[in-house]
Amino acid sequence: MSCSRRNFIAGAGAVIFTTGVGTTAAISSRNSFASGEEEAKIKYGMLHDENACIGCTACTEACREVNNVPEGVSRLEIERSEPIGEFPDVEYRFTRDSCQHCENPPCVYVCPTGAAYKDEKTGIVDVHKEKCVGCGYCLAACPYQVRFFHPENKSADKCNFCRDTNLAEGKQPACVESCPTSALVFGDLNDPNSNINQAIQAKPVYRDKVTLGTKPQLYKVPFDKGEV
Ligand code: SF4
Ligand code: SF4
Ligand code: SF4
Repeated sequence: MSCSRRNFIAGAGAVIFTTGVGTTAAISSRNSFASGEEEAKIKYGMLHDENACIGCTACTEACREVNNVPEGVSRLEIERSEPIGEFPDVEYRFTRDSCQHCENPPCVYVCPTGAAYKDEKTGIVDVHKEKCVGCGYCLAACPYQVRFFHPENKSADKCNFCRDTNLAEGKQPACVESCPTSALVFGDLNDPNSNINQAIQAKPVYRDKVTLGTKPQLYKVPFDKGEV
């Protein structure tokens, strides 16, 4: 069950690309850094622990406030499952729905103006609002259906890990800061000692639609209290 509705174009006709460019770039960058040739690249990612999540949606509201996301659209949703088990022993699974910051981002590949882009220094997929002409190709191409048109500036929009707001101020993304159960972990996937890599190694994780070749960077700890 969706906690709110997003203004997106249905993902029919999504375009999937399966080159390994992103991975190759990240590996070669770290090798270069090791030899002192250039600064190491960051690859930001997020982990959502479905067992720690209580579905409070504090993350959704914090995102809206920090990033000035108007009502009616959302960069982040927490999806609630149908009831699992028999009353009164009922459980719900909560899972995060937001941009996956794909290493192979179809939204970027289809954009005719360069408005949709991936920041090679951080791995964050973002939008140059002033270049967006509102064609909607990226909305249709995203297999995760997480892009929407901002009702005020009319540009394509989505989660950018608070790149312009909290990250620019040296803080964690708003969703991570606001979570009361520490269900969200954010960090550099290229740093073997980062919190997110330690969390990924400590628990089983999965990613959505990996067979499409998009290489999503949103990891999830699967709900362990029953099949959904
Ligand atoms: S999840 Fe969608 S919007 Fe985000 S990078 Fe992947 S294709 Fe683009
Ligand atoms: S809607 Fe904007 S960002 Fe998306 S493909 Fe068209 S120009 Fe690019
Ligand atoms: S703030 Fe944390 S516990 Fe609440 S819905 Fe978001 S991820 Fe789940």
